[in-house]
Amino acid sequence: MCGIVGYIGKRDVVPILLDGLRRLEYRGYDSSGISALNKKQITTIKTVGKVKNLQHEINDTISSDQLSEFTVGIAHTRWATHGAPTEVNAHPHLDDSGKFAVVHNGIIENYVAIREQLNQKGHRFLSETDSEVIAHLIAECFDGDLAQAVAAALSKVEGTFGVAVIAVAEPSKMVVSRRGSPIVIGVGGREMLVASDVSALISYTKNVIYLHDNDLAVVTCDGVDLRSINNVPVSREIAKIDWDISAAEKGGYEHFMLKEIFEQPESLANAIRGRMDESIGTAILSGLRFTPKEMIEISRVTLAACGTSMHAGMVAEYFFEDLANLPASVEQAAEFRYRNPIIEPNTLVVAISQSGETADTLAAVREAKQKGAVVTGLCNVVGATIARETGRGIYLHAGPEIGVASTKAFTSQVAVMLMMALKLGRSRRLSVEDGISLVHEINKIPELIRATLAHSEEIKSIAEKYASAENFFYIGRGYLYPVALEGALKLKEISYIHAEGYHAAELKHGPIALLEEAVPVVALANDIAGKEKIIGNMQECCARKSPVIAVATEGDDSIDNHANDVIRVPASSKFTTPITTAVALQLFSYYVANKRGCEIDQPRNLAKSVTVE
Ligand code: GLU
Repeated sequence: MCGIVGYIGKRDVVPILLDGLRRLEYRGYDSSGISALNKKQITTIKTVGKVKNLQHEINDTISSDQLSEFTVGIAHTRWATHGAPTEVNAHPHLDDSGKFAVVHNGIIENYVAIREQLNQKGHRFLSETDSEVIAHLIAECFDGDLAQAVAAALSKVEGTFGVAVIAVAEPSKMVVSRRGSPIVIGVGGREMLVASDVSALISYTKNVIYLHDNDLAVVTCDGVDLRSINNVPVSREIAKIDWDISAAEKGGYEHFMLKEIFEQPESLANAIRGRMDESIGTAILSGLRFTPKEMIEISRVTLAACGTSMHAGMVAEYFFEDLANLPASVEQAAEFRYRNPIIEPNTLVVAISQSGETADTLAAVREAKQKGAVVTGLCNVVGATIARETGRGIYLHAGPEIGVASTKAFTSQVAVMLMMALKLGRSRRLSVEDGISLVHEINKIPELIRATLAHSEEIKSIAEKYASAENFFYIGRGYLYPVALEGALKLKEISYIHAEGYHAAELKHGPIALLEEAVPVVALANDIAGKEKIIGNMQECCARKSPVIAVATEGDDSIDNHANDVIRVPASSKFTTPITTAVALQLFSYYVANKRGCEIDQPRNLAKSVTVE
């Protein structure tokens, strides 16, 4: 999920690797490392924290003579998914002999089983990562040909990877491959770079080859030999990049937020991958560490969170009630702490925080623990304080989120809690059939998001039409009530427009007094329970001359007569509609803010991680 750089060619290897790592820093990471090879051995240096720490360590330990001897090298910035951000867990990882070095982005799902098998064959593992198995597997499969060994190793792993490998036995090549995580090769004159992201290599060459899933490339300073992991030759065109560095960092998008909105099919696939057990219709969430008995004993769920995470928690209230028959309530995390909440012996507390460092949520965790609750954490950042202090939970695997306004972390939080409710539901009331059909729905989420994003141009033109409004209302019911709150929050955060999210039924209890021609209302009128009632609310808005922008299900024309504009999302069940609708509203906010010329990625007064109370 984070960064890879590799270099082979006429120049000194290490400075180019470090430069590449620095250019990947914008993505966020927790540690970094390099391995470089001279004719005899691999030298590896890793540090926690910033690339400048790595630079200092290299300056202190490698002489300039040694530096000039390296012929090839690979480097990595890590965003931990398995194992805390420590020096040992940082990449590159080596096999026991130290003759093969690997950097890996992604997640190896079957690493526990592979590790056990290799342990029995005498391999000794140093790190807690999933990635380390790749190095050992390659060593195990090596029979004189590195490319073949990498292909054989990768054919044994399940999950996602972008990898770059070097080996003492073949000092004039790098082998790279991908499945699910990007790898791009930069083609220079008598030099080649590899990277997970063009921004690492754009200052050296504009000619690049994008690998496709299951491609494997043997890269030497003179060329690239491309094949599939199954050893079928493939050919890929050399593309010419005409982006500048800032566009390259954003993958060609104008802002990180837009990039992250469009990344959601992948981030959600990562949240779901390896966590669905279709055969018995449940979710595999081993980080929760629940025994079946513990699960059945839970009598209530309390979700503690702030901001966008709190809105995800509000969606999850419906999941836990509907699927697991459990009373569930969200507590604003600061209130949880100061309000003396009632914790019963079997209360499950779920602390939700993208960064895992949110001060109020952390305080709620501590309060819940000392009151004897079972406390779990839902974080995106591995090894974050909340993850450590709860000791059990689920990681979002959304990858680094750079835009300050949360997008992909929110949808992953909702998806992860849907899986959690499925798991608890299966232990309590859901049949195998119900479970299996929900597994199918969850597996469809990435595709549903793709279909939602396909409406981006229509959403853009609607957003631009209303971009000059100074006040907005968002209304929803049931599963879409929290999404209305989140939609309004997103608009506030990035466009500075005053926007209020309300339960549609609350409109008549006050806010309706403010409706007039200049105040648009975004009404979530998807074709799920509550639609008929919200049509009534939309009519009330029209009667006060407020323009109504409806979000509605594709193919449902019944909404069109009651709205000035309609944003379409694909048909889906009530469980997944909050996710598609949230994505449509993210796009709406983005395009409004962009039209107004706002600083979208760093809105004024906001911080990515709120570490003060
Ligand atoms: N899953 C790997 C780890 O936790 C790779 C992380 C990354 O992509 O940066 O080490």
